[in-house]
Amino acid sequence: MMKEKVRIVSITAIKGMNDILPGEVETWQFLEQSAREVFSLYGFSEIRTPIPEKTELFCRSIGETTDIVEKEMYTFSDKSENSLTLRPEGTAPVMRAFIQNRLNNLDPVSKLYYMGPMFRYERPQKGRYRQFHQLGVEVVGVEDAKIDAQVLAMLHQYFVRIGITSVSLQVNSLGCPQCRPGYRQALITYLETRLDMLCGECQRRYQTNPLRVLDCKVPGCQTATADAPSVLDHLCPSCHDHFGQVKKYLQALEIPFVVNARMVRGLDYYVRTTFELVTDQLGSQNAVAAGGRYDGLVESLGGPALPGIGFAVGLERLVLMKGDQQVAPAAPQLFIAAMGQEASEQAFVLMSQLQAAGVRTEMDYLGKSLKAQMRRANKLNAEYTLILGEEELQSGQAQLKNMSDSSQTTVMLESLVATLLEKLG
Ligand code: ATP
Ligand code: MG
Repeated sequence: MMKEKVRIVSITAIKGMNDILPGEVETWQFLEQSAREVFSLYGFSEIRTPIPEKTELFCRSIGETTDIVEKEMYTFSDKSENSLTLRPEGTAPVMRAFIQNRLNNLDPVSKLYYMGPMFRYERPQKGRYRQFHQLGVEVVGVEDAKIDAQVLAMLHQYFVRIGITSVSLQVNSLGCPQCRPGYRQALITYLETRLDMLCGECQRRYQTNPLRVLDCKVPGCQTATADAPSVLDHLCPSCHDHFGQVKKYLQALEIPFVVNARMVRGLDYYVRTTFELVTDQLGSQNAVAAGGRYDGLVESLGGPALPGIGFAVGLERLVLMKGDQQVAPAAPQLFIAAMGQEASEQAFVLMSQLQAAGVRTEMDYLGKSLKAQMRRANKLNAEYTLILGEEELQSGQAQLKNMSDSSQTTVMLESLVATLLEKLG
């Protein structure tokens, strides 16, 4: 009787959530490591917070009428019916942790950075995913515009460090609770005269969140707002002053920027300085980093009345921008090709000694022919190869081949570790 073959259906990842594979992950590690190095130069320490938080944290901070809270959150009930949300961004969780752990008691100025996955239920496309990764920084405790400029200088320095220079820095000021309401009203009054030109969504939200209309990508909305009043004309004297100082310090630090008075950010907590790093390489996913001031946020979450500022960088977009300049995986420094059982066992012990001494070493585990082993050594880009057979075991010496120039030297197996350490510097 023929056995019926059952087809086992394989399980795939969730839509919009990606694996990061060997060969790609090296670029990620480079981007993360560079961030650690640059941020630490500027006095920032890492903070790690849980991935789920109470849903209320995001509603209260990001704002009920924002795209994120209205439609992009991964919210669910746990088994005790608590409403939890997978963090859609990093600032609110970091401020929650700041308040809960009273970090302001450690130092009046807190400089923190984080990196990790964020979750937003969006339509997946190039540069836009449902699980994506950000690295970001926050400074709590400083109102002085020097810190705005320093945060931007650090962002600039990070991009120099990772070799991405085709970005431009756009800055704006969104005013504060003193002057924003006046601007908001002026904008609503303006929009009321052009309601018929707006898309359905903007017609619905122009009163609750008029600033978002400036950000709408629908062409009709862009035309309708072409002559909209500028937020910069409505700043109160102290916001006007603060923004003037931010620009002055940026010039002093020679950080190139353009003022974009139409740039509004999609989160309610921003006040005063806001900014984006934009590229023309990624279509409509053109923001690679974004941030701004959130002076009222800590207090509104039940903490002390301390000002704050920060930014977040989208890692997937950086990886896309690195294009074909991806970082290569670390190649073995030595590949030991062994012929026969005894040589294979000897190679195994040698490999272990070499690895313990800090030499990246690889060998064959599959009983392949010498030719196949050498093919693999080549494919892995090994710097050196060592061929081990019966003869070599007997004489206690073998040929070490430099794969880049094919030169060979005789090495004593006894002193293989020392010889390699010397050759590899
Ligand atoms: P966008 O306008 O592209 O939707 P955003 O204003 O929602 O961006 P922020 O909340 O400011 O983005 O997040 C900061 C950065 O995180 C963005 O500049 C972007 O690089 C990245 N980012 C945001 N959402 C996603 C996503 N769904 N997938 C990949 N990266 C994202
Ligand atoms: Mg978005």
